[in-house]
Amino acid sequence: AEQAAAPLAVLGRDVRVPLVTGGEVTYAALDYAASAPALQRVWDDVAAYAPYYGSVHRGAGYLSQLSTELFEQSRHAVAEFLGCREGDQVVFTRATTDSLNLLSAALPEGARVFVFETEHHASLLPWRRHDVTYLDAPRSPEQAVATLESALHGAPAGPKLVCVTGASNVTGEVWPVRELARAAHRHGARIVLDAAQLAPHRPVHLDELEVDWVAFSGHKLYAPFGAGVLAGRADWLRDAEPYLAGGGASRRVARRNDGGIDVEWHTNAARHEAGSPNVIGAYALASACRALSEAGFETLVAREEELLARLRAGLAEVPEVSVLSLFGEGADQVGVLSFVVDGWNSSHFAAALSAEHGIGVRDGLFCAHPLLRTLLGQDGDTPGECGAPEAAPGERSLNAIRVSFGAGTPDEHVDRFVSAVR
Ligand code: PMP
Repeated sequence: AEQAAAPLAVLGRDVRVPLVTGGEVTYAALDYAASAPALQRVWDDVAAYAPYYGSVHRGAGYLSQLSTELFEQSRHAVAEFLGCREGDQVVFTRATTDSLNLLSAALPEGARVFVFETEHHASLLPWRRHDVTYLDAPRSPEQAVATLESALHGAPAGPKLVCVTGASNVTGEVWPVRELARAAHRHGARIVLDAAQLAPHRPVHLDELEVDWVAFSGHKLYAPFGAGVLAGRADWLRDAEPYLAGGGASRRVARRNDGGIDVEWHTNAARHEAGSPNVIGAYALASACRALSEAGFETLVAREEELLARLRAGLAEVPEVSVLSLFGEGADQVGVLSFVVDGWNSSHFAAALSAEHGIGVRDGLFCAHPLLRTLLGQDGDTPGECGAPEAAPGERSLNAIRVSFGAGTPDEHVDRFVSAVR
């Protein structure tokens, strides 16, 4: 009954944490963009399945067969959630970083990759083994499309891949994914969507967004159990060397007459899933996908917009606060917002929010150093995540504070945050 009332209820809402000032308070989790809490429903599903856990694709016993069945059903549920097309593959990975590294390993010989410098390091860095064109930070969604168009226009023939993030993990701004996909395809390139921050907030359908692949993480999608996904076109994945060599990826292994070893690899998703799969992670991720689909994104989007408006209005009353934005006023944004406070080192500010108010946010450069440098208007080297020097009074911090939320966030968390910032 409780689930029916709150299909997207999350765990951890009544966790108490100590304050340095004495006493304790209910924890305000405002760091969903790093890892979101588990949905109650996901936890219930995992708990119900746990006693029946068995090895996947590796046992004759009943529980092993059951686990194999549930693992493959989870793959179907994810495919449905993502609007996969006929022939698309869903590969279970550890998380988005793993998914994008897998795709990088599967690119054909001579592939050229196009990526904006504003990307999270997980979508910026895996391509370095290929020929990469880094695109300058656009200042509007339209400029993003124009920048990509002109880069692809002059590109030589051959396999090409564009990698783009659907929603920024720093500004929360939504990128024009379908327009970028159309631009890529017009120039014979393929596109992979980093949906780590988009999928928890908006529907992500491969067919509607017209992307070739999508990557995301369970732990940001209310299923923190160690699984992620790379889903999309099968051909490059099928033709590539397995991401990991080992059992599960190989169909037949035999000694040759000359003493060597011949291997016949699987051609389906198993090709890139060597080793014993994380069935609980996959099951939990599928459970979150089902819960989000059943609840529908409309209510969640409306609720996040309400919270964002509340947050923005509160922060607007603090003149020392500057909100970071690439696309400027009116940009479409998910429940992620970053800012700096004049005269404050963001790390000390975030530590005080935790110690004095029981509020969990993130501080630093958010694994997006080039983007932070652009947003903070710095020249030269960006300091490391932990090495940001103190900002003098009246000066901007060299790192930032990020607040992020989603399903189950009550008004009180945003209100407490705003009053703490004040
Ligand atoms: N892309 C984006 C946009 C992200 O925000 C993150 C996580 N911060 C990642 C990729 C990497 O995700 P994971 O750490 O789950 O691999």
